[in-house]
Order: sequence, then C-alpha cells, then structure tokens
Amino acid sequence: MARLAQTPGLTDVQQSILETVREFVDKEIIPHAQRLEHADEYPADIVDGMREMGLFGITIDEEYGGLGESLLTYALVVEELSRGWMSISGIINTHFIVAYLISQHGSPEQKKYFLPKMAEGSVRGAFSMSEPGCGSDVSAIRTKAVRDGDRFTIDGQKMWLTNGGQSSVVATLVKTDLGADTVYGNMTTFLVEKEPGFGETAPGLTIPGKIEKMGYKGVETTEMVLDGHVVPETAVLGGVDAGLGRGFYQMMDGIEVGRVNVAARACGISIRAFELAVAYAQQRQTFGKPLSGHQAIAFKLAEMGTKIEAAHALMVNAARLKDAGKRNDVEAGMAKLLASEYCAEVVQEAFRIHGGYGYSKEYEIERLMREAPFLLIGEGTSEIQKTIISRGLLKEYKQR
Ligand SMILES: Cc1cc2nc3c(=O)[nH]c(=O)nc-3n(C[C@H](O)[C@H](O)[C@H](O)COP(=O)(O)OP(=O)(O)OC[C@H]3O[C@@H](n4cnc5c(N)ncnc54)[C@H](O)[C@@H]3O)c2cc1C
Repeated sequence: MARLAQTPGLTDVQQSILETVREFVDKEIIPHAQRLEHADEYPADIVDGMREMGLFGITIDEEYGGLGESLLTYALVVEELSRGWMSISGIINTHFIVAYLISQHGSPEQKKYFLPKMAEGSVRGAFSMSEPGCGSDVSAIRTKAVRDGDRFTIDGQKMWLTNGGQSSVVATLVKTDLGADTVYGNMTTFLVEKEPGFGETAPGLTIPGKIEKMGYKGVETTEMVLDGHVVPETAVLGGVDAGLGRGFYQMMDGIEVGRVNVAARACGISIRAFELAVAYAQQRQTFGKPLSGHQAIAFKLAEMGTKIEAAHALMVNAARLKDAGKRNDVEAGMAKLLASEYCAEVVQEAFRIHGGYGYSKEYEIERLMREAPFLLIGEGTSEIQKTIISRGLLKEYKQR
C-alpha cells in the first residue's frame, strides 16, 4: 500500500526485510490463501519459504542463530503476513511468544537447548494458558503440577492451543502449590516437550485433534490432555530456583508482546480489506458511475483509511515502547483494543462495498469477514483490554 500504514524512522535492514516479506506475500501467499483456507490445508510450502527467510528466528539473538530483530520489526512483518492470510501469522505467533519467553526468562541451558532449533524452525513453539473452564480468568486454571524429587507430574486439560499439532515445545501455565499468598504466586510455566502430530505425542500427553473453527483455518488449534505427564525440574521456565511460582508473571510479559502482534494482525487485515474495497469501488458501476463516485462510498473509504492510520500508529508506538525496555501494558492494550475493533468495522465496510459478491466464497473479503472476529477475542478480549487500560490509567491518575 503506497500511502497508508507507513512507519517513519525504519533502518535500512528493517526496510529490506519488509520489502522481501511483502514480495513473498504478494507472490506466495495471496494467490493461494483462499484455496488453502477453504481446504483447511496446512500451508507447508509457505512455511518452508518463511523458514528460508529466517522468519522463525526473526527476534532470536544472533548468538543463537536468529536475526536479532526488534519487536517492531516482527510486528511489521506480521502486519504484512496478515495482509496475505491471517493463518500464516498464527503459525509464527505462538512460536515467537515462546522464543520471547525463553529469551527473556529462560535459564542459560534452556536458551542454548531451544533457541538455535527454534531460530531455524526445526522446533516450533505453542503457548498454553487457556483451559475448557477459563480463558480471561487465568486465576481459575486447574491443571496442576505436583513435585516428586527432581520431577513434576502434570495432570489436567488445556484448550485452544494454536499450533498444538505442529509444535514440539509448549509453554504451559499450570498450578503448583507453593504456599504463596496469591493464586498468581502459585503458578509455574513449564516447557513441555512432545513430538509434533496428534494422539499421544509424549507419555501421558495427548493432542486429540483439530478444533473445527469458522475461520483461521490452515493453522490448527487443539486441546492438550495431560494425564500423569512427567517432566524433569529442568522444564520449569527459568529453572526451579528462578522460575517456580513465577509462571503467571512470565506469561503476562509474553502476552504483552502477543497483544502488539494481534494489533499488527488487525492492521494487516484492515489494509487488505481497504485494498480490496478501494479497487472494487473504482471498477463497479452503479447509476452511471463507479461506486467511488458516490459520496456515501467515498466517505466509507475515508473512514476506513483513517482507522487504519490510527491503529497502525498505536501499534507502532506500543512496539517501540517495549523495544525501549519500558512496560507497555496500557499501550499494548490500547493498540490491541483499537486495532481489533477498527478491523472488524473496516472489514464490514469493505464487505458492504462488495455488495452481493462479498458473500461469495470466490472473493477474499468473505475470508476476512471470518478472520476479523477472532481478533476481538484472542490474546484477551476487548473487555479484558479495557480492564487493563482502565486499571493502568486509574493508577496513574490516582487522586491524592
Ligand atoms: C482460534 C483460537 C485460538 C486460540 N489460541 C490460544 C492459544 O494459543 N493459547 C491460549 O492459551 N489460548 C488460546 N485461545 C484462547 C483465548 O485466549 C480465549 O478464548 C480468550 O482469552 C477468551 O477466553 P474465553 O474464551 O474463556 O472467554 P471467557 O473468559 O469465558 O469470556 C466470555 C465473555 O465474557 C467476557 N468477560 C469475561 N470476564 C469479564 C469481566 N471480568 N468483565 C467483563 N467481561 C468479561 C469476555 O470479554 C467475553 O466476551 C484461542 C482462542 C481461539 C478462539
């Protein structure tokens, strides 16, 4: 897109990465996305291409074979990928969060063991907090790890694991009774290893199959059943001394970068919806002129473009704050809230501009109509973002 969603102040390296990804999206993703989505087919060739470009290691330190790029670069890459097909950004996102968690909170041994394989994409990550009985309310997690000497036995059921099948390491948040005052201090993240695939992929660990979804196809979302699954104490993220009872806080750190990513996805989908709408509006004639010649339609385009600019600016701001080492919970929440709500509106308007054709499976906009709602839910719903934002603002503006 020539004018919308520009980002000032990018380095030559960032610009070159983004140009390469944009070309890849135009040539290798957009022409195939509709067919792969309708077939719910895993995009193996696209994933190979991403691996060759080094995207699985984009933020992993060069010391471990990654590109060592910033959260901003990653977010802008995600924006491009989602412009092509949201499922592709889903394939990379949980992997990115797990790599981030290990980079930030992992022990030196965990970094050495996982990060080089994650950077080359031979080990892929999934991220598991949600359970059948809870998503927003993390304190309600019931899956439990019980210590026995230098091992832990994990029992419980996890839900909604994006990349649950393809992954071989799952950052899994569970309860560990440590006698802490708060429920949050009694939670631990384990780096659970398994084979990729479905069925019993490690002793006592079963990935039952894919959850059928309305959209976001091609990338699998699964349950994970843990029935007496034994892990060594070295599986505690950060090691036993540093990591036991720190799981909730580590995961929240991961979620903050995840929220920037969801905002970036929303921008990418909005940009694509705008591209489709602005093209269609100039081709389709009604009452003797192109749709774009009717002020009601031109105004829709104006509003869509404005929403894209606002969402992109908030997303870039949140990414830059995190890259500067600052807490960005409020800003990431704002970016995620605004970008996902605007995305739903922009996609809906693009759909209306397409008239009846928007309802046809031949047109990309029908897929975007199924993708956009997920962004209102994933990585914390809009209500949860408002809770985080208001809590942060009330703390900041506390009356003395
Ligand atoms: C396709 C898909 C992929 C996913 N991938 C992953 C993944 O990889 N890993 C993972 O851990 N999870 C994943 N999730 C789960 C996702 O994070 C949760 O669905 C989400 O956090 C919402 O939780 P919930 O579904 O339990 O809804 P609930 O928490 O039950 O909420 C239901 C509704 O109530 C509202 N609500 C809840 N509490 C409050 C409150 N205090 N105030 C006001 N309103 C409230 C919510 O906003 C929502 O509208 C995925 C979900 C989907 C659909």
